[in-house]
Amino acid sequence: GGADAEYDMVVLGAGPGGYSAAFRAADLGLKTAIVERYATLGGVCLNVGCIPSKALLHVAAVIEEAEHVGTAGIGFAKPSVDIDALRKHKDGVIGKLTGGLAGMAKARKVDIIRGYGSFLDPHHIEVEETSGSGQDKTGAKKVVKFKQCIIAAGSAAVHLPFIPRDPRIVDSTGALELRQVPGKMLVIGGGIIGLEMATVYSTLGARLDVVEMLDGLMQGPDRDAVKVWEKQNAHRFDKIMLKTKTVAVEAREDGLYVTFEGEGAPAEPVRYDMILQSAGRSPNGNKIGADKAGVVVGERGFIPVDAQMRTNVPHIFAIGDIVGQPMLAHKAVHEAHVAAEVAAGHKAAFDATVIPGVAYTHPEVAWVGYTEAQAKAEGKKVDTAKFPWAASGRAIANGADYGFTKLIFDAETHRVIGGTIVGPSAGDMIGEVCLAIEMGADAVDIGKTIHPHPTLGETVGMAAEVAHGSCTDLP
Ligand code: FAD
Repeated sequence: GGADAEYDMVVLGAGPGGYSAAFRAADLGLKTAIVERYATLGGVCLNVGCIPSKALLHVAAVIEEAEHVGTAGIGFAKPSVDIDALRKHKDGVIGKLTGGLAGMAKARKVDIIRGYGSFLDPHHIEVEETSGSGQDKTGAKKVVKFKQCIIAAGSAAVHLPFIPRDPRIVDSTGALELRQVPGKMLVIGGGIIGLEMATVYSTLGARLDVVEMLDGLMQGPDRDAVKVWEKQNAHRFDKIMLKTKTVAVEAREDGLYVTFEGEGAPAEPVRYDMILQSAGRSPNGNKIGADKAGVVVGERGFIPVDAQMRTNVPHIFAIGDIVGQPMLAHKAVHEAHVAAEVAAGHKAAFDATVIPGVAYTHPEVAWVGYTEAQAKAEGKKVDTAKFPWAASGRAIANGADYGFTKLIFDAETHRVIGGTIVGPSAGDMIGEVCLAIEMGADAVDIGKTIHPHPTLGETVGMAAEVAHGSCTDLP
């Protein structure tokens, strides 16, 4: 059939996976286009995810730090919050980045085709044009032909079916719009996204309840780290309801009345001013006409791929949130490079040993590779070395002596296979542990590496020293 345009490579979706794949493909000589329904590049991560949440969390951290120096004899007035100015600040941060991406696409001659893409067959995508800042369809359609394609259509927030549509009920995207600071807010789902947004709203003045179906907040890291987090954050929450479900929400004029069921459930419905739904994200695999291209989509909407990021159709790849957990931007980018390189005829495969996870809360919790819980579950023999920040001069100076750095070593090879850090900047520090794991470093390698003193980062070296029983006594 006729096509309006033809490319070596068409990338569906312009999130961190999509733009990284398109840029790499173009750099490797493929004539490339991106199909994206939104007006800006960057996908969830830049527009309504990683970046805006971190812009707000930074502001929250500054407020918290200012309160902390009260004990050092420095006093500030109670912060005043101009929510319109804060929203503008956040939008400014996003604008810098999405604008930068547009420039990078142009420099590489990557075409941006604005609209909603859906496969027609294994070599054509139909794009229904969208306009404005959202995804209003204009009715115009285009057919784009491709030799190869990378699907990077991402994921969307799960909306619980029994929850009514009401402006006071938001998902993470709505929460990042900062329309109001509620008096009392319910966070449904105690995962990272929920807890990050909870941190922001609580610092702006909201009182919080959180409800979680599982037996603990923040699935992923070891419980000792979460315990530290919980102690530092206890002041934000009226109630943390674990092993509890939200079963009904009634929207009345004077508030949202929520009924719970389970171990932590109050007997009567509870009234809230705002509800954040953060009960997970689901992949967009069933929304792109994949069947018409012959691409197999799994039961829950994930697209299965091999180590080269190929779907069952060899010239169609898939990357990012749409191929599976963990749904994280750095995983998407890594997969993007593999897919683009393979498509350009290079030898590449996804063989990362580990993918780190970080909660950018206060304090941060970061983990990578094996946790103690996972080692135990698998019956793997490990040595654990934990360095308490109460023994770190810098942590004490910074008022962060509650944190810790923990390394997990294979008991036979003494190689590091995991790490968990809780405390300010834990996310920045975990990168060293990732590198150590990828390089096959053992406790001696890490312990004998001279780390700058006094830093929080030297706790990684000190934990390794603990591991071979010769902890230095640097204060
Ligand atoms: P996405 O970013 O979801 O991008 C997909 C793009 O495809 C979108 O722009 C979408 O509009 C477009 N699209 C979809 N279908 C079509 C179609 N049919 N036609 C045209 N366009 C289409 N991850 C981290 O690593 N660190 C963090 O700190 C972090 N914070 C987060 C905070 C929040 C509030 C949220 C919601 C997520 C966060 N994440 C974070 C997760 C991160 O945003 C995702 O893992 C990442 O964006 C996935 O990238 P992607 O390229 O797979 O897809």
